[in-house]
Amino acid sequence: MTADCLFCKIISGDIPSNKIYEDKDVYAFHDINPAAPSHVLIIPKKHLHDITEAKDQDAELIGKLVLRANTIAEEIGLTENGFRYVINTGSDGGQTVFHLHLHLLGGRPMSWPPG
Ligand code: 5GP
Ligand code: ZN
Repeated sequence: MTADCLFCKIISGDIPSNKIYEDKDVYAFHDINPAAPSHVLIIPKKHLHDITEAKDQDAELIGKLVLRANTIAEEIGLTENGFRYVINTGSDGGQTVFHLHLHLLGGRPMSWPPG
């Protein structure tokens, strides 16, 4: 828990969220400003500033994050038509919340390359 981190406050319940899933390592909730018909954020409970802060000891945690996202994608019906995972990193990457999060976006066709 990092005191001034928005997503740590969501995990602790200090800030409400529309939760989809929670276990001892992972928390998932709907994005407050959805960029697609389905937009879920999957985050580790451990505070990591961004994906570059993940080290060897976090390999299992990062695996759990992605596998949980796969399960959520299946549960909300995105697997058949497909979806997109995004991990924005740093200023050029468009990161605005500095607690690692995996975006799960789906429910419409995605363009490439991203803007
Ligand atoms: P980033 O730009 O850092 O990759 O993504 C941050 C995401 O967090 C954005 O899509 C934004 O809409 C979402 N977000 C920011 N504040 C809140 C909040 O208080 N609650 C929820 N559920 N999502 C938030
Ligand atoms: Zn945090």
